[in-house]
Amino acid sequence: MLDVIVVGTGPAGSAAAAILARRGCRVLALERAKFPRPKPCGDYLNPGCGAALARIGALDAVRSAAVPVPGMRIVAPDGTAAPTAFSSGSGYALPRETLDRLLAGYAAGTGASVIEEARVVEIAREDRRIQVTAEHRRRPGHVEHYHAWMVIGSDGLRSRVARMIDPGGSPRAGRFTVGGYLSEVAPAAPGGGAPPQGELHLGRDRYCGVAYLPGGLANVTVALARCELRTWRGALEARYWDSLRTFPGLRGRLGHARLEGGLRVAGPLAYWRRRAVGDGVVLAGDAAAFMDPMTGQGVYLALRGGELAAEAAVRALDRGGPTSRILAGYERERRRAFAEAFLLSRVLQVVAFRPRAAARALRRMAERPDLGTRFIDAVGNVERAASLLRAGFVAGLLGGA
Ligand SMILES: Cc1cc2nc3c(=O)[nH]c(=O)nc-3n(C[C@H](O)[C@H](O)[C@H](O)COP(=O)(O)OP(=O)(O)OC[C@H]3O[C@@H](n4cnc5c(N)ncnc54)[C@H](O)[C@@H]3O)c2cc1C
Repeated sequence: MLDVIVVGTGPAGSAAAAILARRGCRVLALERAKFPRPKPCGDYLNPGCGAALARIGALDAVRSAAVPVPGMRIVAPDGTAAPTAFSSGSGYALPRETLDRLLAGYAAGTGASVIEEARVVEIAREDRRIQVTAEHRRRPGHVEHYHAWMVIGSDGLRSRVARMIDPGGSPRAGRFTVGGYLSEVAPAAPGGGAPPQGELHLGRDRYCGVAYLPGGLANVTVALARCELRTWRGALEARYWDSLRTFPGLRGRLGHARLEGGLRVAGPLAYWRRRAVGDGVVLAGDAAAFMDPMTGQGVYLALRGGELAAEAAVRALDRGGPTSRILAGYERERRRAFAEAFLLSRVLQVVAFRPRAAARALRRMAERPDLGTRFIDAVGNVERAASLLRAGFVAGLLGGA
């Protein structure tokens, strides 16, 4: 009999498994994929991730495989650009293939049993314990049953575990993304000698994130509405390049750029599940909530969510089982930890697609680097999101006061 079964070892599941194993729990993590596996992502980790990885104990391993991201260059649809720098710490850029393999390996190193190519197909309550059924890819048609006191569902955007406890279902709203790895993207400020920065290019109805990866490739991902993506059908790559050239901050930098490998399409993105707990089950990471990737906070939410879920599981095990009180406590902590960030993200989605307002705000940030730092710190989970919302900071930027 296990203490906890973790379903899915993306950042949320691996963080939870590592913490539980280090606390002496018997933990099994079941992962559908075989690592390394591709994952649609902008490949950017904000500074909040650094702090979370340090708490989990995996920061050194991740840092040694990543490019530091000391700030973010944000460009409005009219070309107004603001280079912003974090006040402390740094973001990181590394391919998710590398990150997720590292984190799952780290969880295994702390004592968690990690089984890859094991797809969870059913979860059933049996008296006080939970039975988890998995299909193993190497043994087709064969299922294995595992038993634990508790389950952490960290199986991502289309979480099967979430569907089992909340038939509310998968997200239907939100943008889609088309992303690829490009070589030979010319730097934003040639000869500047500054460390590489992340980039966010705002358009009238879309945006584009750029992360510079170890080895010289750049992850360049465009996010756009579903109706627009439909018009790309049959000409995905040509429309992707056309779209990149609509951003003034990118247009002149793609002359020698080449797409390495294929394009990845993902979506729809963005939702918040009303309930992230069920009978003996807690959800973490994308399984619980997904934020539009514009602000680059998904991996942070996953790592922090994995931490909170693991702490809730430890409390439950200490007190004789996952009571409704402990599960309600997890819901409260999750709200406290994330609700402000989701609110800020929604506010920014509105401002970002008002080109004049975005240009005005970025002009102010370019003139006053301290404002840019305050902004990027809140979005990067260096400071609380509320530090912008409460002080009327966004309104101040827009009003030009
Ligand atoms: C296009 C795009 C760009 C993004 N860019 C960024 C960015 O730059 N920065 C950022 O911070 N965030 C970004 N995000 C968000 C970020 O990728 C997610 O928030 C993050 O991956 C969530 O981690 P997770 O562990 O919850 O889920 P995932 O990383 O999705 O991991 C879930 C795991 O569960 C496994 N699994 C699924 N079903 C089962 C099953 N039935 N049984 C067993 N295993 C299962 C999967 O194989 C997977 O390994 C982006 C997202 C998208 C789509």
